Amino acid sequence: MRRLTKAGHWIGVDLGGTWVRVVLSNEKGRFADRIGEKVDKSSADAISEQIARITRLLCSRHNFSVKAVRGIGIAATGPLIQEKGVLIKPTNIPFDLVSLTKPITEELEVPACLINDCAGAALGESTFGAAKGVDNFAYITIGTGIGCGAIVNGTLLLGKDGNGHEVGHFVIDADGKLICGCGKPGHWEGYCSGRNIPNFVRMRFKDMAAETVEASSLFKRVRGDLSKLVAADLFAAAKKHDALSLKLVSELGVLNAIGFANVISAYDPSLMTVGGTVTLKNKRMIMSPIRKHVGRYTVNRVPEIAISPLGDDVGLYGAVATAIKYLS
Ligand SMILES: [Zn+2]
Repeated sequence: MRRLTKAGHWIGVDLGGTWVRVVLSNEKGRFADRIGEKVDKSSADAISEQIARITRLLCSRHNFSVKAVRGIGIAATGPLIQEKGVLIKPTNIPFDLVSLTKPITEELEVPACLINDCAGAALGESTFGAAKGVDNFAYITIGTGIGCGAIVNGTLLLGKDGNGHEVGHFVIDADGKLICGCGKPGHWEGYCSGRNIPNFVRMRFKDMAAETVEASSLFKRVRGDLSKLVAADLFAAAKKHDALSLKLVSELGVLNAIGFANVISAYDPSLMTVGGTVTLKNKRMIMSPIRKHVGRYTVNRVPEIAISPLGDDVGLYGAVATAIKYLS
């Protein structure tokens, strides 16, 4: 564990649909300690109570009062209303409204602020990661879903409620063969996110001769039960040189390249970094086709596209950076 200086203790919270992770950080983004738990979904109030309890625990482990914390930044999957510090019908959390900043501030007497996790990730990257000093930058996550955060001319873009640039719902297939989790056809996330890659594979299998599908090691991996297929099966089979899996990975790569090209056309970044579990577990298979094909779909000069050096912690860095930016 790193020692904290007296200069400032900050709490960063990465609140997802399944896990909540909390770090104790200094102002330079050095994490002294962390705790992760499954999100307590027993009531809408339970989540803020859980974050307050973990914050107390982290402070007590380091022998200082919670009141010494300068601020708590929460990066959460939206939708949300940033100014009110609330989530509205959040993905994978079964409540219409989850109030976060107000109850936490009342409970701990420490200021708290909220940000969309992808916007937060962009801020984290520009504060602590690869985008330091970069005025035009976009962060993309390809994980369970697909999201983006963007900094344009040095300004973090947020939108009216903080839900800007929902790029996962960009249309990348006008035929709309697959329906996204949001209910609309043809969305990028409906094809290329970890949750929906199995739908893409099943759809493509239907177009192919049964003997071709049955000969693939991907089909054998799930013992012929395609309902059991997960995204990791596709990449594992591709890494073992299964020709059909390699073909599907390459098709997904073209769709990702279209999504990236749309982001480049919208924000004209000079640097893009990429994170999310699908990317981080399959770096070359995700990045190579994007780099290869993106230029075909955007008229803009293609930016540098790199894996985020902040890895799986980009949301936590984003939460800490948000607290420092908005609560200093
Ligand atoms: Zn959608």
